[in-house]
Amino acid sequence: MSERRLLIKGGIVLTMDPLLGDVLGDILIEGDRITAVGAGLEAEGAQVIDARGKIVIPGLHDTHMHSWQAPLRGGYAHGWGNADYHNNVFSLRESFTPVDMYDATFAAGVEMIDAGITTVLNFCHNTMTPEHADESVRAHRDNGQRAVFAIGMLGSFEELKTDHQWRLDKVRDLHAQFGDDPAELIRLGLAVSSMEYRSVDEVETEIALARELGLRMTFHQNVGGQLRQLHQLGLLGGDMLPAHANVAADDELEVLASMGGGISFTPEGEFVGGRSMTVIARSLKAGVTPSLGVDTAARTKVDIFGQMRITFTIMRYLQAQEEREADRWPLERRPGTPLVEPRTMLEFATVNAAQHIGLGDHLGRLAPGYLADLVVIDPGPYGMALGDPANHVVLRTAPADVDTVVIGGVVRKQGGRLTDLDAGDAGAAIQRVRTRVLGEEHPAMPPHLRKVPAA
Ligand SMILES: [Zn+2]
Repeated sequence: MSERRLLIKGGIVLTMDPLLGDVLGDILIEGDRITAVGAGLEAEGAQVIDARGKIVIPGLHDTHMHSWQAPLRGGYAHGWGNADYHNNVFSLRESFTPVDMYDATFAAGVEMIDAGITTVLNFCHNTMTPEHADESVRAHRDNGQRAVFAIGMLGSFEELKTDHQWRLDKVRDLHAQFGDDPAELIRLGLAVSSMEYRSVDEVETEIALARELGLRMTFHQNVGGQLRQLHQLGLLGGDMLPAHANVAADDELEVLASMGGGISFTPEGEFVGGRSMTVIARSLKAGVTPSLGVDTAARTKVDIFGQMRITFTIMRYLQAQEEREADRWPLERRPGTPLVEPRTMLEFATVNAAQHIGLGDHLGRLAPGYLADLVVIDPGPYGMALGDPANHVVLRTAPADVDTVVIGGVVRKQGGRLTDLDAGDAGAAIQRVRTRVLGEEHPAMPPHLRKVPAA
């Protein structure tokens, strides 16, 4: 049997490839890879998707997401500070069973695919038992999202001293199950322990294991000086993706840049967490590549378009503030100012992110030889924005505008509807977890809404 072929016809294709640029034309996909991009492509017997009047972009990546928190959606949206987070979200870790991990991770993936997020780096800091990891991986397999399952090295705070070894063993166990083929939908990663909770020796052991097995690493960088400390210990590398990183100093960013490193910036989380956001501008100036993350559905809508829009807004704000403080007002364009355009955000969520998970030569661009992960955006009845189509993608698009999603050459959403997944199944999975973890009487109905008596 010949390979499955798919032809995306007549779209405005933002390839994100420096040689191809933007193309008004077609994309031919054979098997799980793109084989041609250009105008007037023909492919007899191929499935054809009409993309005329639509924008085609590489699949979006979320490089910092705690998928297990999907059922807690909105539970921390109003939070103020770490105590609220701990009480409403993090303390529930120990109430999640492996079954809950499956349902939560499955539901998170369905919602992400629906929203055009074809790849997730799932920072699984709820790996309370080996089965928690197994069930999360099984959910990734079942929903077919491209995923880096970053197994968490930090467990229950009560068991910090006793539970390290089985986690290290589990990394080897999972690694033996996963191949190294870049086309595999699921890859293993390692979520290094937050350094404020583990000894240097333990952290060093985790990093050594990841490097031995060739795994990408990520970690929560919320305490100042950690990048410097890792560097002094000879442990920092471009294979580690610090998340948030808002406390990173300029000299730390320079070291990270010299190693080809990046950060995963989670703008909405930084905003609501009241944290500094200057790192996004400082990292770019230092040569550190940013990618973007939703972080948690407990706080943020599962929406990378939203994160791109907020990041653009923040970056314009930060730079305008610099200009005002330097008495350069009213604003004027000059070389290097402004630092970014909307299109830069799309680079963060595609090219940079693919590089951060070690797949920069395989994902993040729509070019021959790359894996066929893409999103078709329907501008809808009000039409496309004027100017650069990337402006429309970054500043005017919502998950509901995602018309088509392709992952590994397989059509997962078409005409605005999921093809082989059911959003209703994801919703039911979320409700099951809520009932098991929060109880039958969980506050799905806010207490301040009283029932109106029947007439
Ligand atoms: Zn996080």
